[in-house]
Amino acid sequence: MIEFKKVNKWFGRHHVLKDIDFHVKAGETAVICGPSRSGKSTLIRCINQLERIKSGEIFVDDLPVHDKATNITRLRAEIGFVSQQFNLYPHMTVMENITIAPIKVKNVPRKTAEAIALDLLEKVGIHDRAGAYPAQLSGGQRQRVAIARGLAMQPKIMLFDEPTSALDPEMINEVLDVMRKLAAEGMTMAVVTHEMGFAREVASKVVFMDDGRIIETGTPTAFFTAPEDERTRSFLGKIL
Ligand code: ADP
Ligand code: MG
Repeated sequence: MIEFKKVNKWFGRHHVLKDIDFHVKAGETAVICGPSRSGKSTLIRCINQLERIKSGEIFVDDLPVHDKATNITRLRAEIGFVSQQFNLYPHMTVMENITIAPIKVKNVPRKTAEAIALDLLEKVGIHDRAGAYPAQLSGGQRQRVAIARGLAMQPKIMLFDEPTSALDPEMINEVLDVMRKLAAEGMTMAVVTHEMGFAREVASKVVFMDDGRIIETGTPTAFFTAPEDERTRSFLGKIL
């Protein structure tokens, strides 16, 4: 569903993705971890072309993302993206935040979009907050709305970039629980996170990045019990 072939990216003279080969099959959850500035966000953002690559190829559902001819609006409609910041529209209610893209981008009738939104709010456990504004919600609730908003487009892929990093500890699990549920339902996901409990439990594979490279990829069991590279061991030693 997602495939990177020898992808390279620079920011100016800074080589931030180095010969990245990476894939996520349909229904898999890939967890990406690694130190700050290793390129995790950049990798994720290349998938929906928030960043453009210099060389190599990226395919999403067999669509060549790197190709200038590819319709990026169509591509993005298939990919939900939840980042660390709560980028909900502050002047819109929860319901409006969730329904705006389906109505505007996919021409879904408002009534239908609202019915879908209510189902999604139920799924993320906040069906009673449809009329609230983002400022009236806790951080955990806002992230769950952000997930519901992504799901409202009926995406084939969900991308998460440190979705719980800005949350108070007691709210982390309510967000991870929603992600666990999505994984169990067979959503294809790429997740940047330092929540290693989540990785152990949910990941189809764990990818470790350092300095723009993928250093190691393994099943959670292999990754956590027998990491091969010294840099992986050192990283795990610091965060576990
Ligand atoms: P991570 O998510 O692992 O912390 P990033 O992908 O955000 O890493 O960043 C990788 C490297 O690219 C860092 O050195 C960062 O400073 C640099 N970088 C990220 N975004 C930009 C940008 N828009 N312009 C210039 N440099 C950037
Ligand atoms: Mg990042």
